[in-house]
Amino acid sequence: MSCNVLILGGTGDAARLAAGLDVDPRFTVTTSLAGRTENPKKIAGRVRIGGFGGVEGLIDTLRGDKIDVLVDATHPFAAQIRRHAMTAATQANVPLLRLERTAWAKKRGDHWHEVENLAEAAKLAPRLGHRAFLTVGRKELAAFSDIPGVHFLVRLVDPPPAPLPLTDFEILLERGPFDETEELQLMRVRRIDLVIAKNSGGEATYGKITAARNLKIPVILQRRPSLPPGYAPAATVETPEAAMEWLDRFARG
Ligand code: NAP
Repeated sequence: MSCNVLILGGTGDAARLAAGLDVDPRFTVTTSLAGRTENPKKIAGRVRIGGFGGVEGLIDTLRGDKIDVLVDATHPFAAQIRRHAMTAATQANVPLLRLERTAWAKKRGDHWHEVENLAEAAKLAPRLGHRAFLTVGRKELAAFSDIPGVHFLVRLVDPPPAPLPLTDFEILLERGPFDETEELQLMRVRRIDLVIAKNSGGEATYGKITAARNLKIPVILQRRPSLPPGYAPAATVETPEAAMEWLDRFARG
């Protein structure tokens, strides 16, 4: 009998895991996306789009679709869905596997200012630079709405549906991955003197961090949110390959 896997996605690692599972006849894989990006990259297997309607909705999906394993491969900063995944998996008695990239670690030559949240980042920004490369997504840009003396180069995947809540800014529409050479070129041409980012981890967006190191410019880096109380998935792995191995062992019983 096929093992039904539901992947909570929205990351490159989730897509890589779906591709691996889709070619293994033991698994039937569905990837769930929140629906934030207009044209998501093609994902192998079945794809469903949109929220579940909270924990209860996710429990209904786990039960209704007879899900055998829930894989939470959402972004490290997607704190709400992570909480919902833990609660729903526990209540529906479905094992939860967490797939999460390791956070970037500071290296020699990095000028990092680590902050808990973007309000703190915004407060610090004018003391560190005047032309900031802002790569924190669209959701929380309001934190930077009232920051005098800083021009923001805001990188987004999709055109924003409403005017951005910023005064002095420029939008750059681009989808990763971004390599170091491109990032270096972009930051030189735009005379960037500060990078503001989340500690996402992984290779796809690390180029701006190495470029900043190279250019000797500061980075304001938001730390990852702390784990919700009682967070205890069946296992946590760091790569799609490790997730495949775990699922392989699970399928063998
Ligand atoms: P969030 O705040 O943790 O979740 C908000 C709500 O969005 C959830 O309660 C859920 O709605 C829905 N949702 C989130 N991920 C979902 C998924 N994979 N499938 C179905 N519904 C989902 O999430 P977020 O920070 O807005 O991120 C949304 C998505 O973008 C995530 O899937 C994440 O992997 C991806 N992403 C986030 C970031 C980031 O910086 N936060 C960066 C890159 C990619 P219901 O309660 O209705 O179920």
